[in-house]
Amino acid sequence: MSRSAHPAGPRHADVMTEGHYTAPPADLNALDGKVWARTVTRDEDGTVTVGGIEVTRLAEEFGTPAYFLDESDFRARCRAWADAFGRDADVFYAGKAFLSRAVVRWLQEEGLNLDVCSGGELTTALDAGMPAERIAFHGNNKTVAEIERAVTVGVGRIVLDSFQEIARVAHIAQRLGKRQRVQIRVTVGVEAHTHEFIATAHEDQKFGIALAGGQAAEAVRRALALDGLELTGIHSHIGSQIFDMAGFEVSARRVVQLLAEVRDEHGVELPEIDLGGGLGIAYTSEDDPREPHEIAKALGDIVTRECEAAGLATPRISVEPGRAIVGPTAFTLYEVGTIKPLEGLRTYVSVDGGMSDNIRTALYDAEYTVALVSRTSDAEPMLVRVVGKHCESGDIVVKDAFLPSDLAPGDLIAVPATGAYCRSMASNYNHALRPPVVAVRDGGARVIVRRETEEDLLRLDVG
Ligand SMILES: *Cc1c(COP(=O)(O)O)cnc(C)c1O
Repeated sequence: MSRSAHPAGPRHADVMTEGHYTAPPADLNALDGKVWARTVTRDEDGTVTVGGIEVTRLAEEFGTPAYFLDESDFRARCRAWADAFGRDADVFYAGKAFLSRAVVRWLQEEGLNLDVCSGGELTTALDAGMPAERIAFHGNNKTVAEIERAVTVGVGRIVLDSFQEIARVAHIAQRLGKRQRVQIRVTVGVEAHTHEFIATAHEDQKFGIALAGGQAAEAVRRALALDGLELTGIHSHIGSQIFDMAGFEVSARRVVQLLAEVRDEHGVELPEIDLGGGLGIAYTSEDDPREPHEIAKALGDIVTRECEAAGLATPRISVEPGRAIVGPTAFTLYEVGTIKPLEGLRTYVSVDGGMSDNIRTALYDAEYTVALVSRTSDAEPMLVRVVGKHCESGDIVVKDAFLPSDLAPGDLIAVPATGAYCRSMASNYNHALRPPVVAVRDGGARVIVRRETEEDLLRLDVG
């Protein structure tokens, strides 16, 4: 589907027409373990808990809206990825999904590396003690200052995204008396089966250098010729929220073909291949994500097979999951405010946040579910749309879902699977105060990113 938001305002037609909803779930009080963080359960009196703490207590202590992140789930997912890929591969967590200093420390403790794509992300990583050699630097338009910083601190790799950048990084590295390890990001002509805004490997897009027309081969030629660069491999990232491994297969095959061409032309076997991130998670019960070990096996098999066929030694594989690690580990807790039944349509349930804490529904037409978490209810299901408090009718958090018909102002509802691309894409629209991220683990809760205050807003406004 191709679509763009109208700059002048809400997309009424888009927002109002479609009916995505299915039948109400058999049990509105049930929490699907696929969609919710691992330690989320309902206790005996019907209140939902995470990390052993009732959400009602969390709301009292930390307020709403707020993101609650299940730390043990996050760590377990890191370990699952690290174990699945083993010692012959590297897992880089994509920091843009959600990054904070606590997250950086967890990654280090669980043995993961880190992708950053801006000076701000790099600063966060270094400040929290991530060794520079475990950081990969991405982006289609890294500034000279960002490149200088990355080279100076000695990041493990810079992923080159254009011909200009090949020259730019080489020049900067040489000036600084360094030889920078780099990969070249190629576009393999695969369009991942997902929304166009987040599919990134087809050719008509801003990222990477096309394999087609010999462009990537030319990029390799140039990189190999420059003293400031040590070209270690080829990088491909084909999209986001992908369930079908077929796209990765094609991508791996084409990247290996390029490695074979490079060997034939230059007598060099590049030792690394990075297949990017983009693995899907369950936002609703209808999604069926792959487990890390299945993904590792599928990718390992295809790369090994293609390399054998091409007579190449199998390169070291790396992957860059962001969403698949942090996405499922958090939910957003909201307090219900105004409830507006629209006869024959649906009931609009307004919460105390909205598109400022979750832009994905408005931006990507994303699907979410929602549950009443401060109590259980035996009331009949009602079809709802969960909306925020922003001055914009596209301000939708959950397009279509069912909540009990006795829902009332003051109830707490939670939207699961908001760990990725929610806080990291949060805005101050309408001067909203960005919510905190609270890590919950083993009966303890601690703020890892605090709630913004009105003082924070005014501090930026210098009058
Ligand atoms: C965004 C991005 C990722 C992570 O994508 P997810 O969908 O969060 O797994 C990995 N690599 C690159 C280069 C990216 O741009």
